[in-house]
Amino acid sequence: MKFGGTSMAGTERIRRVANIVRAQAVGRNGEANEVAVVVSAMAGETDRLVNFCREANALYDPAEYDVVVSSGEQVTSGLLALTLQSLGHKARSWLGWQLPVKTEGAHAKARIASIDAPDMVARLEAGEIAVVPGFQGITDEGRISTLGRGGSDTSAVAVAAAVKADRCDIYTDVDGVYTTDPRIVAKARKLKAVTYEEMLELASVGAKVLQTRSVGLAMKAGVRIQVLSSFVDDGAALADDLPGTLIVSDEEMDQMVERGEMERQLVTGIAHDKNEAKVILTRVPDKPGAVAHIFEPLADASINVDMIIQNVGRDKGETDVTFTVPQADLARAQALLEDRREEIGFNRIITDSKIAKISVVGVGMKSHAGVASTMFRALSDRGINIQAISTSEIKVSVMIDEDETELAVRVLHTAYGLDAEE
Ligand code: ASP
Ligand code: MG
Repeated sequence: MKFGGTSMAGTERIRRVANIVRAQAVGRNGEANEVAVVVSAMAGETDRLVNFCREANALYDPAEYDVVVSSGEQVTSGLLALTLQSLGHKARSWLGWQLPVKTEGAHAKARIASIDAPDMVARLEAGEIAVVPGFQGITDEGRISTLGRGGSDTSAVAVAAAVKADRCDIYTDVDGVYTTDPRIVAKARKLKAVTYEEMLELASVGAKVLQTRSVGLAMKAGVRIQVLSSFVDDGAALADDLPGTLIVSDEEMDQMVERGEMERQLVTGIAHDKNEAKVILTRVPDKPGAVAHIFEPLADASINVDMIIQNVGRDKGETDVTFTVPQADLARAQALLEDRREEIGFNRIITDSKIAKISVVGVGMKSHAGVASTMFRALSDRGINIQAISTSEIKVSVMIDEDETELAVRVLHTAYGLDAEE
């Protein structure tokens, strides 16, 4: 079970969490469960700690940053263990270095290399609840590391994989994964299940329910995830009744469809992302090596390029190249390219951060034609102009004017028959 920052914010909420955890551990009809719980820091706490680091030293050492920011989870894990004990249940915390959660890669954005937890497993089998602070691990040198913001989701999936859990229930402030953002479309529906691939696309294109990396890890390790709300009434459905959204393999999804528990849809969900910016380089030489000159410096600076379009060459052997980068990296990207104007040989840089990327996602489109044309028709009927297009096997994305985001999402939700019935 994993609980996010909103669920852990304050002793009152931690008590509710403890009650949910205890109910799961006690189980139904005398069938107890072995439960490991992964927790986030209290909402806002990690931001507060990051600010302290900035104030202390603007050019902070990432290893010391990790010491500071990992402490939020240390507090909540201890508090949850204490609260469970006060309810009469055996419980203890297992810090990252105690399990241990071994990590590799740079401080502040480490990756989990392995979790070896024989001691914890033995105590689970003896009926003790394990409480694990998310987000933290230990490096080869024995120093504390953290996994990047939102990393507790990944900790939870990694712990679930390590103990071969039946399920990893991720409790959060939403009650599942929706066909689209319910704040934009009132008729958005909660999905009973999505596949890992779909969730990866939905997570990376802006449906921020889970850290993207956690979904990739779950897919690799075969961990079944359920996303569900921790804000439930006392009489609400138990997690075992699967009230949230399951994130599962293609095979399990097929079985659910066969059993009639799910309907196979062409499009599963619609995501939007306003955090990208568009860059156009005009009159780039249309010759081998030209685009390599553009994208190599961006890659070296770890700037993620997403959509790319290169127009066909005009006369004079020139072409325009358009692409998107995260808005936060736009200034840096622009400076890097300006510095290489001669080398790349472009004429002008035009940038625009008032764009949005809208994506329709669904495994169903692997085997069906016409998904993209439905999208283009629906948008054009509302006069929405498409500035760029990109596709994968299970996704079609378009770039549009940011002001038209909400309209586009609504129009597409209807066009693919996703609206909930009245
Ligand atoms: N507390 C960390 C953060 O705010 C990790 C997490 O909650 O997932 O990013
Ligand atoms: Mg989170």
